[in-house]
Amino acid sequence: MAEITNDLTWSISRASLFQSCQRAYYYKYYGYWGGWKADADDKAKLLHILRNVKPMILWAGTIVHDTIKDALLKYMATGTAPTLPALQEHATLLLRSGWLETINKEWVARPSKKTNLFELYYGDGENYGECKKLPREQTDAIKERVMSALDAFMHTPVLKDILATPCNQWQPVDENLFFMLDDIKVWACPDFAYTDSDSILHIIDWKTGKEHPAQLRLQLACYALYAIKTLHFPIDRIAIHGVFLNDGGRRSDYQIDQTLIDGVTNQIKVSFNAMKGKLQDTEKNLADEENFPCNPSEYTCSTCPFLRVCPAIQ
Ligand code: SF4
Repeated sequence: MAEITNDLTWSISRASLFQSCQRAYYYKYYGYWGGWKADADDKAKLLHILRNVKPMILWAGTIVHDTIKDALLKYMATGTAPTLPALQEHATLLLRSGWLETINKEWVARPSKKTNLFELYYGDGENYGECKKLPREQTDAIKERVMSALDAFMHTPVLKDILATPCNQWQPVDENLFFMLDDIKVWACPDFAYTDSDSILHIIDWKTGKEHPAQLRLQLACYALYAIKTLHFPIDRIAIHGVFLNDGGRRSDYQIDQTLIDGVTNQIKVSFNAMKGKLQDTEKNLADEENFPCNPSEYTCSTCPFLRVCPAIQ
């Protein structure tokens, strides 16, 4: 089997972490590397665990996304249309199993495969991963958030449009989509896309948080770039939308034109070169921790998975 390598690639989430705190970026993309091996050093092993610690609110969003994805794939394979009780039952199972994984510390043996919740890992601020309980209101609120997002999904007109479209006009729902921008590998994994009867490609991103227009415009434009470069859609046949599931399933449409695409292309190149410029060895993608400063702020540090090791917090 070919040896896996740690390559410098570009994604919205990677670029956004680089911008908010370079030390967290270093821990997430470099410090943890090899931490899954038995003979790895202790710090790499710990960072491998920490990079997978997730705040409950993000976990809830993942469960909503996974439930929707599974439901649409099932519809595609069997013709069984999603129902709210079926979606909520599926999500309840995911919530239960994730909860057990985190409480039983299954993540110790399989950090990247098993749920590890920030609120439990950092529960008492000292005995990492030992906290086993959270206030009932907190766990109920997360469950309610998931259930109401699924309710909104079932009632959004976007779902009607999707189900009215023959499945052979759906684009593959895949998590590993990328395109090349010159020599930059850019990850672009839209939540859903389909072509309507007028041959317009609709690209959809399900959102479970608030709308941040600048961020969402960049994300959707990146997906549009994927469609242009890989699926060969002309720009005037692409429509991009965010659907806000914690806001009743509201659809927010973003305008797309050549200026936006050129701007995003430039933004990706500038951001990639900034990340590349911090490396110790660009050929081998090697980085030196000291070259990635901490950037403490209440907003970024309050849910940062690397609190335990960050020198700015000790
Ligand atoms: S705790 Fe704050 S300063 Fe430290 S790595 Fe995380 S975000 Fe950066």
